Amino acid sequence: MRGDLSRRAAEERDVADPLAGLRDRFVIADPELIYLDGNSLGRLPAATPDALARLVRQDWGTELVRSWSTWIDWGRRLGDRLAAHVLGARPGEVVVSDSTSVNLYKLAAAALDANPGRRTILVDAEEFPTDRYLLQGLAAQRGLTVRTLASDLDEGLTPTDVRQALDDQVALVVLSAVAYRSGTLLDLAAVNAAAREVGAYVLWDLSHAAGSVPVELTASGADLAVGCTYKYLNGGPGAPAFLYVRQELQARLRQPIWGWFGQRDQFRMGPEYDPAPDIDRFLVGTPPILSLAALDPALDVLAEAGIDRLRAKGVGLGELMVDLADAWLTPLGFTLASPRDPHRRGSHICLAHPDALRISRALISEARVVGDFRVPDRLRLGPAPLYTRYVDVWDGLARLRDLVARGVHEQLPVETLRVT
Ligand SMILES: *Cc1c(COP(=O)(O)O)cnc(C)c1O
Repeated sequence: MRGDLSRRAAEERDVADPLAGLRDRFVIADPELIYLDGNSLGRLPAATPDALARLVRQDWGTELVRSWSTWIDWGRRLGDRLAAHVLGARPGEVVVSDSTSVNLYKLAAAALDANPGRRTILVDAEEFPTDRYLLQGLAAQRGLTVRTLASDLDEGLTPTDVRQALDDQVALVVLSAVAYRSGTLLDLAAVNAAAREVGAYVLWDLSHAAGSVPVELTASGADLAVGCTYKYLNGGPGAPAFLYVRQELQARLRQPIWGWFGQRDQFRMGPEYDPAPDIDRFLVGTPPILSLAALDPALDVLAEAGIDRLRAKGVGLGELMVDLADAWLTPLGFTLASPRDPHRRGSHICLAHPDALRISRALISEARVVGDFRVPDRLRLGPAPLYTRYVDVWDGLARLRDLVARGVHEQLPVETLRVT
């Protein structure tokens, strides 16, 4: 349904927005910049620099090694905060550690070990690259097969697609709850139930879902999950990732990297590896405390917003974006490359255009609108609901429309870039 597409209507929606005040809790260094890439790197929470400076001066500078008595279980403490506010999991089911890639490796290997005799790993052919590569590596090491699930680049997968690809040879399924490109949202409960019927584990990648859509890991019957904290969770560049293992599975699963942080009674420093009985067994080594510390102020704002209000606003921003794209951008050669139904997508959308790479570059350099480019021809726009206003979506798309209408992007060289 297309509503009033005037700028005034967008302003009115901002006035009525219950989350509007939370924008001030972020550093908005350049008010002219329209930031639509919070799904790649979330904004800096205003409280973070001081919190980090305090930690560096006080805990590190003054207390020195004595601080480890509190630092030691920050991975778990922050995991519990994530479980409560973002992931719909129980205490003791989530820890923050390592990167998403490493956590994916650990949990995928653990699931494969727990499902011996099965030969197949199932993954979306359009899954985020690190997930696919890690699974290829695991399969090569173990003589298994990776079966890719063909999925539509714009519409993504449905639970029915997954169910039809499952059989009793599948040991493990790896899927994103929200696809990194199309933004397609999958029904976790439906997929978990289908996998359970055939005895396969599902490992969810929540990188684009955590902090943008409600995730109910416990209620949906999820076994395993991983995800980033630097996207919608605003933990900062390279912030450590989280992993989730369903409580009932923890004692049964063993991960392949046997470090001392996974050891039962770590400081006895015993001769043999003997994994902790709980979620700690999925840890490896000394956590990056400075990076972990940045998660607290970020989660404070998120907890205050509440995931249901974030989702409601994410849907509203996405609908406005799609309506404006239909009205303004379709005539300029863009097509929507995400599900049209807002309940079938997360908080970002993709627009396809043959010249998307140059448009994405020109948008940043000439129009001060930051989105990003994704192969083959997609402009990806992620209006993070915690700090993006309806007028930002309106202004961002107006600038995009004017830039393409004037052909500004055509003056840029066709270049290749290291980071898109
Ligand atoms: C961003 C992202 C990652 C990133 O993994 P890193 O180990 O942090 O580089 C992994 N998977 C998905 C689906 C992502 O969107």
